[in-house]
Amino acid sequence: MDHIEALKNRGEIGKRVVVWGLMYGAELAISLADEGKKVTLIGEAGEKTMTSHTSDMRKFWVWRKLTDINASRETPEAQRVDNPEVKLNVKVKTITADGVEFEDRDGNKSVLPYDTLVISRGREKNDSLFAKIEGKASEVYKIGDCSSAGNIQKAVWSANEVARKI
Ligand SMILES: Cc1cc2nc3c(=O)[nH]c(=O)nc-3n(C[C@H](O)[C@H](O)[C@H](O)COP(=O)(O)OP(=O)(O)OC[C@H]3O[C@@H](n4cnc5c(N)ncnc54)[C@H](O)[C@@H]3O)c2cc1C
Repeated sequence: MDHIEALKNRGEIGKRVVVWGLMYGAELAISLADEGKKVTLIGEAGEKTMTSHTSDMRKFWVWRKLTDINASRETPEAQRVDNPEVKLNVKVKTITADGVEFEDRDGNKSVLPYDTLVISRGREKNDSLFAKIEGKASEVYKIGDCSSAGNIQKAVWSANEVARKI
């Protein structure tokens, strides 16, 4: 299933979960592990990609849990966890019902068995509603993720820009 399906159908997620995609997947992986799942987070990039779309505070919260980053770790919440297990810099080669086969930087191949695979990869704009109503109203504008997939700040800015023009 994809990331949004996973959020909407938590009850359907099995015990062993592989989350593929570091940027959005890291927080989902932590959340599923907190719910008692055995989670492996995998991705092609390095640790800095995890949650890189968010504020520094949130990034560090995730990095402290999932990496050995040198940061203050006074509270229990700031400790490194071993679930989710994180596999960085790996390339997914094949996906079958038995597992996800991936290759590390040295060319070593492994297979991760799963009950549920969550694919949390890049996002795309969704302008399907715009296409339906364009031409039916005198003025229709694209803002936010309808215009291009971004973040909340970009969505608010683009809305503000349009609102000031009309
Ligand atoms: C998993 C995930 C995590 C994210 N984390 C962050 C983050 O930490 N920080 C950040 O800044 N951004 C984050 N983003 C990106 C952020 O959520 C989006 O960029 C932002 O929500 C875009 O705002 P929007 O108003 O354009 O679209 P949306 O927030 O998607 O709002 C569009 C709304 O229109 C509704 N809609 C769609 N079609 C119809 C229709 N036909 N009729 C009626 N209603 C309809 C939808 O239900 C939705 O409520 C994340 C995105 C994802 C997917």
